[in-house]
Amino acid sequence: MDSKELIKNWKNKRSAQKKPIRKFVKGLNARKNKNLDQLAGDLNDKTFQKLDCLDCANCCTSIPPIVTRSDVKRLSKATGIAEREFTNQYLVQDEDDDWVMKTTPCPFLQEDNKCSVYDARPKACRKYPHTDSDEFRNNLGLHAGNAHYCPAVFHILQDMMKRLA
Ligand code: SF4
Ligand code: SF4
Repeated sequence: MDSKELIKNWKNKRSAQKKPIRKFVKGLNARKNKNLDQLAGDLNDKTFQKLDCLDCANCCTSIPPIVTRSDVKRLSKATGIAEREFTNQYLVQDEDDDWVMKTTPCPFLQEDNKCSVYDARPKACRKYPHTDSDEFRNNLGLHAGNAHYCPAVFHILQDMMKRLA
């Protein structure tokens, strides 16, 4: 499947696969699965070789990223907007008291799905979707939920289910 087909396939199957994915991730034992990081890294690379985020942008469209103080400093420099003004204009505190982007889609998402502050984007955007080899095991609690929002996570988990069956 090419990038667009992977996204279409995810849209068609994500609701029906919600329960099986949740069950699979719950049963994943990072201590017993010694090769989990390597497997996740391989599947992550394989998936992103085919899937182009510029065909998708669903994270930027639907999940407001956390924006830390150091992110604000970097973004303030990149946009030329003073830190306080940047915070007032673009950020809001969520129920966990984290600062997040105020609006979805993200105000920095462009029509061509590129990020207008890519080099200065928040750390949360850099790390998402937490599926490479040094992130996967430490974010087991996030993957099932993310599979509903991110086609890459969905396909990585589907492939992992087949490999570990
Ligand atoms: S990280 Fe996932 S949700 Fe975000 S653009 Fe890439 S494939 Fe889409
Ligand atoms: S800052 Fe850029 S990468 Fe992050 S959500 Fe906004 S558009 Fe997407």
